[in-house]
Amino acid sequence: MSKAAETGESAGMTEIADLLAANRGYADARANIDDPRPSRRLAVVTCMDARIDVFAVLGLHLGEAHVIRNAGGRVTDDVLRSLALSTGVLGVDTAVVMQHTRCGLAGVTDDELRALTGADLGFLPIDDHAAALREDVDVLARTPYLSRLRLVAGVVYDVESGRLEDVVRWTRSG
Ligand SMILES: [Zn+2]
Repeated sequence: MSKAAETGESAGMTEIADLLAANRGYADARANIDDPRPSRRLAVVTCMDARIDVFAVLGLHLGEAHVIRNAGGRVTDDVLRSLALSTGVLGVDTAVVMQHTRCGLAGVTDDELRALTGADLGFLPIDDHAAALREDVDVLARTPYLSRLRLVAGVVYDVESGRLEDVVRWTRSG
């Protein structure tokens, strides 16, 4: 019998209870960081994929970077909104766009994703990581209000080997 059935709660309620219970241990052990500005002046845009432990993959620690995640790790309007604050308010000057192998958005079409989800959206599917990364890095480079960005890198994380492929790099001249 599941824990949910035993307690008479829905499975979802049990999940939330587990999260709250885990938090009690976390709160006692955590380090407090006062400064909201990422100490490495870095923002990482990456996929929501559950296999990616962003901090571990990149050797990052709490307080060092903004992490902005969505399906595919694509540069959407909402990523630009977040980066406007990262760069304009919180001192970020470097961005890394990290896509990954075996992504759910790779090798599919918008039509297929619309049929699967019932959502009439542009999903930004990825045909080719190098092309998608170049496109996304280019958007960051030419967005006027992100002019404080000095360096943008596009990389692909291999979910099987754990290694990164360095695909595209842009630096602001002048
Ligand atoms: Zn993905």
